Amino acid sequence: MISAPRGTQDFFGDEAARLSWIEETFRRTALLAGYSEIRTPLFEEASLFERGVGEGTDIVTKEMYVFEDKGGRKLALRPEGTAPVVRAILEHDLLKTQKQVKLFYAGPMFRYERPQAGRYRQFHQVGVEYVGSPSPVVDMAVILLSVDFLRELGLSSFTVKVNNVGTFEDRANYLKDLQEFLRRRTAELDEEDQPKVDRNPFRVLDSKKPKTRDVVKAAPRVAAYLSKESVAHVARVMDYLKEAAPHLDVTPDPYLVRGLDYYTRTVYEVTSPELGAQDALLGGGRYDRLFETFGGPPAPAFGFAAGVERLLLALRTRAPERPPILLYFVPLDDEALKESAILTEHLRERGLPAQMDYDVASLKSGLRHANKSGFKFAFLIGPEELLKGQGILKRLSDGAQWPVSLNADAIAEQLKLRQEATP
Ligand code: AMP
Repeated sequence: MISAPRGTQDFFGDEAARLSWIEETFRRTALLAGYSEIRTPLFEEASLFERGVGEGTDIVTKEMYVFEDKGGRKLALRPEGTAPVVRAILEHDLLKTQKQVKLFYAGPMFRYERPQAGRYRQFHQVGVEYVGSPSPVVDMAVILLSVDFLRELGLSSFTVKVNNVGTFEDRANYLKDLQEFLRRRTAELDEEDQPKVDRNPFRVLDSKKPKTRDVVKAAPRVAAYLSKESVAHVARVMDYLKEAAPHLDVTPDPYLVRGLDYYTRTVYEVTSPELGAQDALLGGGRYDRLFETFGGPPAPAFGFAAGVERLLLALRTRAPERPPILLYFVPLDDEALKESAILTEHLRERGLPAQMDYDVASLKSGLRHANKSGFKFAFLIGPEELLKGQGILKRLSDGAQWPVSLNADAIAEQLKLRQEATP
C-alpha cells in the first residue's frame, strides 16, 4: 500500500475542522486590521529564495525542494511566504498606487526537515506583511496583531521573545568577529553546527544543542555592534509594547536570530510552554532591505508567519466548531429515500442543515444511529407516512413525537417549536 510521503499529513474529521477554524480566525483578525488576501504560487523560481532568504541559510542549502521542470527552469516549492509576497508586490507595482501595502496569506509551505512533533515537510502557515513605514509603531502593531490572533484562538500562555539583529551594515562587522571566534572553537561545537561556522555563523547562535550553547555563551554579542539608530529603534518597540499591552509577557532574547537572512533590527518569536522542543508558534520581524535585494525601491516592511500545525498542537484539547445539525432522516423504503433527499435539500436551502441515511434502514437501526451521532431529532418516513403525506418528527431526548406534513416549511416550523420546548 502507498502511504503519504514522510513528513506530510492527511487532515480529516475533527483535525481538519480545527485547521479550517484556525485559518478562518486568522482571516477574520487580519481583515479587521485592514489586511487583504494574497495568494501566490506554491512554486517559484528557486533563485527568489536564494536571493531573498539567503544562500547560506539552512532553508536554502538543505531544506528547499528544488526541481527542474520540463522547460529546464529551476523551481522550488515555496519554503516560506515573504519572498513570494515581495516578488508579487514588485511585479504588480503595488507600491506605485498604494502608500502602504497590507497583505495576508494562508497556505502550505515545504521544507525538507527532519520530521518530529511540530515539524513537518509540508506544513501550513498564516502570515501578514506590512510594507510602507520604518516606524517602530509598525513593529508594535504587527506584533500585537499576531498576539490578538493567538488570543482569538483562545491561547493565553505564551511569551513574546524579541531581539535586535541590526541592519545589514551593523551585522557585517559582527559576523566577521563572530566567525573568527567560532572558527577558533569549532571543534567544541556540536557536530551538526560545525558546518554553519563557514556557511552562516549567525545560525550557530540559536542552536539548541547543549555543547554549542556552552560555546555560544562566550561568543561576541550582536548588541555591541549595533548602530545608535538600531538600538533606539528596538528600544522604542519594547517601550511601545509595554505601554500598549502592559500584561503581555515580552522578553529580550539575545540568542534569537531566526533562520532567514532578510531581517533587519527587530526579530521576534512567540513561544508556547504547551509545545515541546519545537516551541515557536510564530515568528517574524522587520525587513527593510528585501525589496532592494530584489531590485525594487527601498521599502521598509514588517511581517510574521504562524505555523498552523503548532497552533493545532497547542489547541489539541479544543473541541472543533461545527454547525449543529439537529435533524436526521430515517427513510424506511426506496420512495421514502427519495422524499427524504428532496426534503433535506429544501431544508438546506432554508439554512437548516439536515442529514439522512442514504440506505433504506430499519426503524431500530436508524434511531440507534441518530442517537449515537448526537442528533436531537429524527424524522421517520415509511410507506404509511408517504400515503398520508405526513412523516413523524421524533425528539430523541424523551421520545416525544409529532406528525408533520412532508414539506420543508412545516418541518422547519415544528423543529423550531419543539426545539425551544426541549425539556
Ligand atoms: P519561519 O518561516 O521559519 O519564520 O517559521 C514561522 C513559523 O512556522 C514557526 O514559528 C513555526 O510555527 C512554523 N514552522 C516553521 N517550520 C515548520 C515545520 N517544518 N513544520 C511545522 N511548522 C513549521
